Amino acid sequence: MTNSDVVNKTAAVGSIENANADSGNGGVSAEDMALINQLARRELKAEEVYVFPVTLCDNETDRDCERFSVSALAKLAELFVGKTGIFDHDPKGANQTARIFRAELAADESRSTRSGEPYRCVKAMAYMMRTEKNADLIAEIDGGIKKEVSVCCSVGRKICSICGADERRQPCTHIKGEYYSGKLCEKILEEPSDAYEWSFVAIPAQPNAGVTKSGAFADRKYDLSSEEIGMIAAKCAELKRENGVLENRVAELKSVEDKARADAISEIIRLGRFCVPSFGAETIKAVCGEMSYAQLLEFKKRIRKDVMKEQSERPKSVFYNSENNETEESGGLQRIGSAIRNTSFRMKR
Ligand SMILES: [Zn+2]
Repeated sequence: MTNSDVVNKTAAVGSIENANADSGNGGVSAEDMALINQLARRELKAEEVYVFPVTLCDNETDRDCERFSVSALAKLAELFVGKTGIFDHDPKGANQTARIFRAELAADESRSTRSGEPYRCVKAMAYMMRTEKNADLIAEIDGGIKKEVSVCCSVGRKICSICGADERRQPCTHIKGEYYSGKLCEKILEEPSDAYEWSFVAIPAQPNAGVTKSGAFADRKYDLSSEEIGMIAAKCAELKRENGVLENRVAELKSVEDKARADAISEIIRLGRFCVPSFGAETIKAVCGEMSYAQLLEFKKRIRKDVMKEQSERPKSVFYNSENNETEESGGLQRIGSAIRNTSFRMKR
């Protein structure tokens, strides 16, 4: 890349207007014939040529969030005179060409662009030879079938609509298509230095088809620029990375939770020997296995409370027991005794 970027842009709908007015009965003006003959290799007659109007490009924001400035359009109108148009996507049309013999900056005051500017476009007149080979194509153009035109040119500057930075020299952090304080970030294409060619493209899947950046995806129906595809691929890679990090984190948390559960269950088993001695460790473990971690914590809290309660009653019971050697044992002591017996019994098994 030298001091300018090559861009391919597709003009909006209705690029080629019905050419009947111009083509009918060889109605090519003498002025137009003079311009055509400046480009032709030999002197052509009006009946030999078919002329049609074509909108080459405009200042509408395209799907890449790029647009030509009005001054760029004026320059392009000059640069495209004499440039050849090709019939892309049509193998039969390999040798069919048309040529622009005049072009001008045109205005449509009734219409404004997405960014709020009055609509401007480059309207051109093109001619092609009325040969047998071109007959079908001429009929298609007359019938309004061939609608889209894309242009290939080079631009010297790509200006950020938010801060005015030139993307090619001092890239800024503003992202095309994002809004900043309610204002859309676009890259404004300025200072076209050369116009290479223009081409008819197959009727796009959607109206207002924006950009076909280059040949690689040109004959697919995706309607995405290589830049957009690159952005999607980068986003996918980023999401995959984030997903990996999250998966590791989940595994980490799972092992922490498993450890916490295991600790809570052993604590419940230990406490259970005191207050539910008839339940063996395996039974408690099985019951606990069905509980959520929150339920486990609640269960542990309750069982601990019971044990504390029993322990607070214990010295009194023991006192009575040792003093009177009577049957005044508290229920708590009975349960502890039974817990001990039960535990040792189970341990022997
Ligand atoms: Zn910026």
